[in-house]
Amino acid sequence: MIVFTDLDGTLLDHDTYGFEAARPALAQLAAHGVPLVPASSKTAAEIMELRKELALDTPAIVENGGGIDWPSGSKMVPRADDHAAIRACLDTLPPDLRVLFHGFGDMDLTEIAALTGLDLEGARRATDRQYSEPGLFRGNEDERAIFIDHLAGAGFHALQGGRFLTVSRGTSKAQHMGQLRNALQERLDRHLSPVVALGDAENDRAMLEAADIAVIVANPAHAPLGPLDGEDEKTVMRTRLPGPQGWNQAVLEILRNHVGAKAQGMQP
Ligand SMILES: [Mg+2]
Repeated sequence: MIVFTDLDGTLLDHDTYGFEAARPALAQLAAHGVPLVPASSKTAAEIMELRKELALDTPAIVENGGGIDWPSGSKMVPRADDHAAIRACLDTLPPDLRVLFHGFGDMDLTEIAALTGLDLEGARRATDRQYSEPGLFRGNEDERAIFIDHLAGAGFHALQGGRFLTVSRGTSKAQHMGQLRNALQERLDRHLSPVVALGDAENDRAMLEAADIAVIVANPAHAPLGPLDGEDEKTVMRTRLPGPQGWNQAVLEILRNHVGAKAQGMQP
């Protein structure tokens, strides 16, 4: 088994970012040697601390699927320069269009902290970017469409989230799952061992649809994720409890059904 998990609102509490309630399931995953791969909109620098706390030696999918962050000491890949390319591309826009986008790279840490609710150290980690550039777009809908069009011409993708418009190459969390599954194959017990994914929001949809077992974690802050593509052909669980509580319950249940079954000599 391999587990891909979103962080905010899924493994981490939507408000406190804590994961205490998920500790029992995290301990069980570790005890069974099940690789746990974080897949988040956070940067590698932001995920680093969580990785240390959980003693994770697995890679992480960072910046909303922008790329993979490999743990130091394992398979090293050169640091991507997508972020520098995005910043360079922004500066080739006509000045009256460029000025409408106020990216993290155009802000100081105090401004980012105020916008995101992070402290200054958190804001610094959020600006340590490799694959994407979030920012505020301060134009009207027509100007936004022109902005997005210009970037598309240069091979970049701009996606409006709740607050920020994020410019990236447009890869999703799901696009890295196969590669990571192969990289971690030696640790997986069987070819047929299931791929589990947990998420709470629309930006997790493709990842959930690519998994054998999808867990939609309740998040009272927004409407639940609607039916997944192929929902009838796979196992889809919807938690009643939010965030780490729901995560804990769902993962323990999956472990009981799969790892428990295997321990008794049954097909995993
Ligand atoms: Mg989330």
